[in-house]
Amino acid sequence: MYCPFCGHDETKVIDSRLVAGGSQIKRRRECSNCGERFSTYEEAELVMPRIIKTNGRREPFDEVKLRAGFHKALEKRPVPSDKIENSIQSIKDAVRKIGEREIESQVIGKQVMNQLKELDQVAYVRFASVYQNFQDVKDFTDEISELSKK
Ligand SMILES: [Zn+2]
Repeated sequence: MYCPFCGHDETKVIDSRLVAGGSQIKRRRECSNCGERFSTYEEAELVMPRIIKTNGRREPFDEVKLRAGFHKALEKRPVPSDKIENSIQSIKDAVRKIGEREIESQVIGKQVMNQLKELDQVAYVRFASVYQNFQDVKDFTDEISELSKK
């Protein structure tokens, strides 16, 4: 591929390794013209199921939206991007394993909650409060005491 910095058509791979639990290859490349380095990611193109919204509408699975949701819940939290990417990958794997053409959006919501629970409990409560429509302070304290039991 062309160098994203200078447009030169020759770049060489200086390192490659498996990431995201082995489902992606990350290649470190160097431009032979300007010397800038950048990474590319390669993964198998697999079809994701369509999402059934609560209003019955169908939408394509949207990884960008999923990632945005994670970043919003994890705003200003000390969680490295690699871990977020791993979580997104786990969700995609889990969703594919279900093997359906269409799945309810709640299935994704639950997956996100499970992942956030592992990543960061503050983010988890943040997400859960919106997702589960916490009605009052008691819902919060219930969820938090549930967390602190573990
Ligand atoms: Zn270049």
